[in-house]
Amino acid sequence: MRIVKVVESPIKLQSNISNALVNFSSHTVSALAIVTDEVRNGKPVIGLSFNSIGRFDQSGIIRTRMIPRLLEASPETLVDHVSGLFSPEKVLTCILKNEKPGGHGDRAQAASAIELAIWEINARLNDEPVSVTIARHYCRAERDQYVQVYAAGGYYYGGASEEALQQEIASYQDLGFTKFKMKIGGIKLAEDVKRIEAAIVQAGSAQNLAVDANGRFDLKQAVEYGKAIEAYKLWWYEEAGDPLDFELNALLSKEYRGALATGENLFSHQDVKNLVLFGGIRSNLDIFQMDPGLSYGLTEYVKMLDVLESRGYSRKFAFPHGGQLMGLHIVSGLGLGGCETYPNIFKPMGGFADDMKCENGQILMPDTPGFGFERKSNLINEFVKLVS
Ligand code: MG
Repeated sequence: MRIVKVVESPIKLQSNISNALVNFSSHTVSALAIVTDEVRNGKPVIGLSFNSIGRFDQSGIIRTRMIPRLLEASPETLVDHVSGLFSPEKVLTCILKNEKPGGHGDRAQAASAIELAIWEINARLNDEPVSVTIARHYCRAERDQYVQVYAAGGYYYGGASEEALQQEIASYQDLGFTKFKMKIGGIKLAEDVKRIEAAIVQAGSAQNLAVDANGRFDLKQAVEYGKAIEAYKLWWYEEAGDPLDFELNALLSKEYRGALATGENLFSHQDVKNLVLFGGIRSNLDIFQMDPGLSYGLTEYVKMLDVLESRGYSRKFAFPHGGQLMGLHIVSGLGLGGCETYPNIFKPMGGFADDMKCENGQILMPDTPGFGFERKSNLINEFVKLVS
């Protein structure tokens, strides 16, 4: 069993939206396909993936460093000889050969795309969903059949209209969602408070609403916002300050009694260790949002979970960032708390399969082999172009 070919192409995200810091109109994602010499149902087994959402394509690193290492490796060094499948751990070691530790930036997203495609190959070799492969690999009795999901959105679409925000949340309710997340920090606090109050009314309860500042605030602003929103008892208050400013998070956690969420911009288990050592994270309250699609893939993500669980934190408080099919399978396979999704934005990567319905805030996991991208028409068309 060997890898025959690896192809990568940047794809432009269809999003002209902004959070407190970033406009997504120029954002891209690396779509990736790994072709093997194995055949199932008369077709070569191919693993498809991409590097989540939000950190641009990684074409340079993937093409000039990682693909050559993968193709130069002896095929038997990439295989798990017990299961007969590819070893994600060995593949990750291979593509990081001669890379220094630390400095977990763009390289982490490049590695994620390759490592997650390996998981899809393994699932297709077994003709099963990736979530089933993941649950077995990590010795869980079975995958979770239902995954809690929430609709993320509430961006600044060139204005701060409360009515537009309520209409957006209503549209997610029509799709079966019960919990929501909106952006804050892009306008003055008093105006944001009006948006939050309008969103709570539409969501039915503040416990159905999370807010996300995308790391914009310094400590003073983070605390000011915290004081202004604490009484609402929101679901959570996300990335108030810089994701690597653990002192800020620790000080904020002393001032703000509700749940804080962070982690989507931490890409290694060492960073997560520092977060729980120095970030003031409160067990059974605060939320972890590391994204396996941004942080070297599932292998590294499970090391992050080990860090959390060895220090008394529960994986039920892990809600990976990202909002795409790969994250959904990972949440189900590992039995995490849930995941986000963007029902109407970040196309073609964002969201789940076209025919996958959310009911009462939950998604029933599909039985489609692999990640099931073939049930997501706009995305599978991109992958077909990639491998043809
Ligand atoms: Mg966020």
